[in-house]
Amino acid sequence: MHLGSEEMYAFDLAGRPVSWVRHGVVWRRGLDGAVLELRRTGREGWEQGVRRLLPGEAAAQAVHLREVLEEGWRVLGGPDPLRRALELDLERDGLRFQGIWRPIPILPPDQYRALVLQRTEGCSYNRCSFCTFYKNRPYRVLTREEFADHVEAALAFMGPSLSWRRGVFLADANAASLPDESLLATLTWLNQRLERRRPGDPEFEPRNLSRVASFLDTFSTLRRTLEVWRELAGLGLDCLHLGVETGSDRVLRLLRKPGSAAHVEELVGLLKTAGIRVGVIVMSGVGGPTLAQEHIEKTAELLNRLPLGFGDRISLSEFEPDPSSPYVQEGFSELFDRQACREQSREIRARLRFQGYPRGPVISHYDVRQFVY
Ligand code: SF4
Repeated sequence: MHLGSEEMYAFDLAGRPVSWVRHGVVWRRGLDGAVLELRRTGREGWEQGVRRLLPGEAAAQAVHLREVLEEGWRVLGGPDPLRRALELDLERDGLRFQGIWRPIPILPPDQYRALVLQRTEGCSYNRCSFCTFYKNRPYRVLTREEFADHVEAALAFMGPSLSWRRGVFLADANAASLPDESLLATLTWLNQRLERRRPGDPEFEPRNLSRVASFLDTFSTLRRTLEVWRELAGLGLDCLHLGVETGSDRVLRLLRKPGSAAHVEELVGLLKTAGIRVGVIVMSGVGGPTLAQEHIEKTAELLNRLPLGFGDRISLSEFEPDPSSPYVQEGFSELFDRQACREQSREIRARLRFQGYPRGPVISHYDVRQFVY
């Protein structure tokens, strides 16, 4: 709904508010009820302040949304889609979401509209010095029965809003590194479950969910053969997102991430040969000033060696150090500010030698602070 030229409100087909804009400020609501506020700051257009609203502020936004909906209902003569939005109890809906999903702290930048299904909880490694996403979540693989229940609950929760979702994202952190048989069985089962039309939901289009993406760490699946990767691709495994972080093995050791640039090259080559698209995420600012030049050079060199093309993605993410992480607590390096990280992203990008889009990969900025599911 648009109100004049300064206000816009977007809802999904279940009536949940998704995002709204007023006088240049953007708010995004997560399914758990969290609301992010995005404001342009500073002189440069890219600078964006991101803030998670306090519960009282989010409640005030909910009151405002209700007023807008009631006004829309009156002016537009009571259209049915608005009825769902007006009848929805946002607080109860957020609690219902929290009963089905564990918190979703991060998704790759092109997966924000995926249907997230949590086959595993947490990260099977969970020891990188900079990462606190899953620190308090012991790693666990759901049983097949638990996962089936989770999928049914997720589909019921989404209801008519499922038509807005694109693809399935198999979570949590590195679900794609499940043992081969388990991952093959999961995709086979998901294909069968998601191909059926859903009674009472004419909007649902099964084809929208036929592609599966996931995160994959860069070190635990090197024994998986090309044949298995091909079989997984045939079952709908469409894209894997790799937290590569850096092309410098010295910086990688500071991050306490196993593997090496050579491992990344081998893995990406396998995935591409199997027909799986690849999203590579690198972080600017890691390694601090001492290793800055090495990080820039080796990262650009590694990226340029990868066989990335149409359908692939390189995401340049600025390091967001968590003060409670070992990286900060143990003083692994001096920390760059956002401006310096942004400069480093530009330097890495300027060294990339790919064909332009659409022949080459999408190369984009990736601000993890802006994510809310
Ligand atoms: S960066 Fe990835 S592999 Fe490392 S602890 Fe975090 S989720 Fe696990």
